[in-house]
Amino acid sequence: MRSWSISVGRLFGVDVRLHLTFFILPVFIFWTEYAAHQGNANGGRDLALAGILLACVAAHECAHIFTARRFGMIPKAVILLPLTGVTLYDEPRADRPQPAALSFQREIRLALAGPLANLALACLALAVITGSGLRADLWKWPFLQVANLPRSLVWANLYLALLNLMPAYPLDGGRLLRAFFCLSMDSSAATRRAVSISNAIAMVLIFAGLFSDSWLTMVGVIVFSAAQLEERALVFQSVLDNVKLEEVMLTDFATLSPADTLEDALEKAVHSLQDDFPVVRGSDMVGVISRQRILDALRAEGNGYVQAVMNKIFEVSVRHESLSSAFRKLTSRSSSIIPVVEDQRLIGIVTLQNLMHSMTLLAESRKLRRDEAEQDM
Ligand SMILES: [Zn+2]
Repeated sequence: MRSWSISVGRLFGVDVRLHLTFFILPVFIFWTEYAAHQGNANGGRDLALAGILLACVAAHECAHIFTARRFGMIPKAVILLPLTGVTLYDEPRADRPQPAALSFQREIRLALAGPLANLALACLALAVITGSGLRADLWKWPFLQVANLPRSLVWANLYLALLNLMPAYPLDGGRLLRAFFCLSMDSSAATRRAVSISNAIAMVLIFAGLFSDSWLTMVGVIVFSAAQLEERALVFQSVLDNVKLEEVMLTDFATLSPADTLEDALEKAVHSLQDDFPVVRGSDMVGVISRQRILDALRAEGNGYVQAVMNKIFEVSVRHESLSSAFRKLTSRSSSIIPVVEDQRLIGIVTLQNLMHSMTLLAESRKLRRDEAEQDM
């Protein structure tokens, strides 16, 4: 899901990314202005308007992020699209209590936080403009225009508030709709229903825009892209939650012995695709070591024993654990291998490499299966 966005920095500890559709915006503004003024476009002002829109979207997302934090959720990244944003959340940390699924009330408050922030900003901008005696011609059409940036600031916020209240998931209005659906069905069915309504709205907007205001087409394209982003995140999350380690763990793997010399270990590593190896004495798992660690130790200290350089502190998992739990364990210790044990016997391993690989495959196969099921309906 990240391939369509680029990282542009951090805001309040959250990775901020620009979705590629964002770069359509300045071009789009330039093009509409150019058409409106018979070739007299002002590039600097066009960029300023794009900047205003981006800042208003960022403020909108910040309101969501602050509210989410108050509810114990951990925002990890926010992807800014031209007229809305998508916030991705981290897995709850193991040392914190797991927040229950958001209650109906919290879902509503989380969704409304963004549009309310834009309304507040519109009021603030209006107050500043009136107070400083700037000519804003507030009711002059078109409301959003590069020729009058103060007026555009007020209207950009009003538009964003209204636009995000459209019942098109994942816009905030769509989230409200989904929260209502959740009262009577499970959450993934609710999301799918909200996404299909959203896709229908996007299509109507795109077509309506072709025959009237091209901004509508722009909004339709963005709603559609945002829904795709959100749906992919959802498929990944469901894979993380529902797939058990036994379904993806490697059962055919190489092990090392603590009594192996590093040169022996490297020799074995050459014949294996693994980057990380469990170290086993008899039937006991006593450590883990990576190919890189073996190489580094050989370079630094010459030949020695695996025993001396292996990592003796590691987390183990059992076969029924979910992928999300394995991910947490891997990232919390920044290790790259988790042994799966049963009755203290090593029955498989899960590596970061193997997890990423199987996640992508599983997400694809789930989406395929679901599409087939929907076609059969
Ligand atoms: Zn929002």
